[in-house]
Amino acid sequence: MTNKKQKTTNFGFKTIPINEKVSHVEEVFSKVANKYDLMNDLMSLGIHRYWKNEMINWLRPQPEWKIIDVAGGTGDIAIRINKKFSKNPRNIGSITVCDINKNMVKKGRDKTIDNGIISGIEWTITDAESLPFKDMTFDAYTVSFGLRNVTDIKNALNEARRVLKPGGRFLCLEFNKSLNIKLQSLYDSYSFNILPKLGKIVVGEEEAYKYLSESIRLFPSQKQFISLMQESGLSLLNLRNFSGGIVCIYSGWRI
Ligand code: SAM
Repeated sequence: MTNKKQKTTNFGFKTIPINEKVSHVEEVFSKVANKYDLMNDLMSLGIHRYWKNEMINWLRPQPEWKIIDVAGGTGDIAIRINKKFSKNPRNIGSITVCDINKNMVKKGRDKTIDNGIISGIEWTITDAESLPFKDMTFDAYTVSFGLRNVTDIKNALNEARRVLKPGGRFLCLEFNKSLNIKLQSLYDSYSFNILPKLGKIVVGEEEAYKYLSESIRLFPSQKQFISLMQESGLSLLNLRNFSGGIVCIYSGWRI
């Protein structure tokens, strides 16, 4: 959690000056960008694809919607939404991907072209905590495995509400910090022993994957995150757990 008085925050289990968090996070994702998609498949045995599809199914993008995907990385969410749009010729919505990391965005752009997508997705290098868009610009805001990396989640949620149009939808896909008691020790052992080793073998990066596991443990509990959404002014809050509670999709609306 961020401690503004002392001007420190967490970076995984380390405490660092608050103004250094963005550059630390940027460094992590710059190191893993090239193998990011491969590692996602390996770490989750491909199940992250199902979780992401579930988020899009819950969103049900409508014709002409303008959608912002924050911390969009290599574009998994944007590409899925674009494919939904292009299934229906009347459905000419647009997606804006925001991410602080240009290496991740470059991989995303290349992947978009490999998927035959030449329009409908814009890419911006932008911090989730200060989005360069006018109030009430978007019909939907999505963020997948992104908010646990930002320095101040509250700021990011306030920005989410600000850029949503009245009636706009917020959806966040994120790991849960804890599972039921039986699965917890298995989850801990996988996260803290196997994941960093896999990261070392595949990407040559043990530390980056340690950060991943630590950042999951530091994300607010479901109750806390729902309270933060409420404080930021989002309404009609709801959540759905998947895969025994490994991940959760949070939903809210700007009314
Ligand atoms: N959304 C993608 C997905 O689900 O595959 C990427 C998720 S990846 C785990 C986290 C992404 O968040 C990285 O691309 C990282 O650069 C981005 N990120 C971290 N801090 C951010 C911030 N403050 N603002 C915007 N993006 C950020």
